[in-house]
Amino acid sequence: MKIALIAHDGKKADMVHFLSGFRERLLQADVDLVATGTTGSHIEKAGFEVQKLLSGPYGGDAQIAAMAAQKELAMVVFFRDPLDKHPHEPDVQMLMRICDVHNIPLATNPASAELMFKAFTQT
Ligand code: PGA
Repeated sequence: MKIALIAHDGKKADMVHFLSGFRERLLQADVDLVATGTTGSHIEKAGFEVQKLLSGPYGGDAQIAAMAAQKELAMVVFFRDPLDKHPHEPDVQMLMRICDVHNIPLATNPASAELMFKAFTQT
């Protein structure tokens, strides 16, 4: 099972904190993590194995959208920062649209991600 992770700059600490709370469950559930470049670096520093793609503004969100369209992802966790502007907003919208087109579970905040992770890592 592959899960994609993306966090805008203002939410990267939240992403690391969130994942750390699921460390044991993620290991047990044999989950592969893939992330946009900078988010991936933060996740890696926290001790997780993660496949790093391009940084979001350089096409990382688009790469994750392509994976979603090809049904390679079990879910997408995208902690967006609604209080900041993003030069790659069209890519962000595109990724969310692709998730909806292909019915890929998409969590955009820790509360929804927690519910989904609990469901996905149930043993
Ligand atoms: P980043 O990209 O992980 O490379 O910062 C995330 C984004 O802003 O889409």
